[in-house]
Amino acid sequence: MGYKLPEKFVTTVVGSYPYFPEALKAFRLRKQGKKNFEYERLVREAIKKTIKDYISAGVDLISDGEQRREDMAVFFAEELRGFEISDYVRIFDNVYYRKPVIVDKIEWNHEIIVKDWKYAAKLSQGRPVKVTLTGPYTMYSWSFDKYYGNMRKAVFDLAEALSHEIRILIKGGAEYIQIDEPALSTNPKKEDVILAREALEIMLGRLHNVKRILHICYGKIERLFPEILDFPIDQLDLELKNSKYILLELLKEFSFDKELGFGVIDVHNEKVESIEEILEDIRLGLEIVPPEKIFVKPDCGLKRLKREIALAKLKNMVKAAVEAREKLA
Ligand SMILES: [Zn+2]
Repeated sequence: MGYKLPEKFVTTVVGSYPYFPEALKAFRLRKQGKKNFEYERLVREAIKKTIKDYISAGVDLISDGEQRREDMAVFFAEELRGFEISDYVRIFDNVYYRKPVIVDKIEWNHEIIVKDWKYAAKLSQGRPVKVTLTGPYTMYSWSFDKYYGNMRKAVFDLAEALSHEIRILIKGGAEYIQIDEPALSTNPKKEDVILAREALEIMLGRLHNVKRILHICYGKIERLFPEILDFPIDQLDLELKNSKYILLELLKEFSFDKELGFGVIDVHNEKVESIEEILEDIRLGLEIVPPEKIFVKPDCGLKRLKREIALAKLKNMVKAAVEAREKLA
């Protein structure tokens, strides 16, 4: 079974994959409160198909495709104690969404993603499966707070609750733990950056023998510097392609030396990047860190792309990484 990760330019994904029809059916059942046998079967089928695509593309370090999660914040809020979910709220035109509402002390009271991770790991033909969790700062930022009235307290309770899930995952064999904090780049104040760091300390600070990853994308990532350099993480996973690699100057300036999740696939663009283009982009990463520290991946989750396009992009990404191992390392 053993799958050996390449020593250089490991290929990976951020987390989400386009939803298979089974996942969309499962969302409908979930909304009707029918989390029954059929619901589970559909989610599993969607995860199985995701993994088949990842393996056919040749991705080294994979995910479960987040096929159970229609929304990255609502999903965790539905599973944690202390949240309710609002009715659909109109945000503009005919775009409606639901928002988590904090109504009580946030606590973990049952396993959330453990079974999906285990299922994915069973199907992965030995490839490691990364765990992806929506971070406490983002969970709080995207919720209405009717209980705490104090961001710090709520974020720390969220971090404690998620830590519980992380501990179980690690006990089960998970080796890659990724915290997704997209809200952190929206327009963070310095105190937000420090709060996010303290929350990560709670979740990741005492972990050994696992890879700790933080994913951030879009917005004003530069506002997280230099504090982010001291976050308790091994790998910073960034969106870079869409913003034309402007962050690289900053990474250079601060002598960045952690592992770098290096975005080479624009998930907001249907155009499939060519192998040559990706290879050129990977070359830029070598100005920051050596090939052992570069994890080649899409900017962000792939869920908004059509499946055929996502798959074609991943295939070229893997081919480019294979060439990079020969030509650039
Ligand atoms: Zn992202």
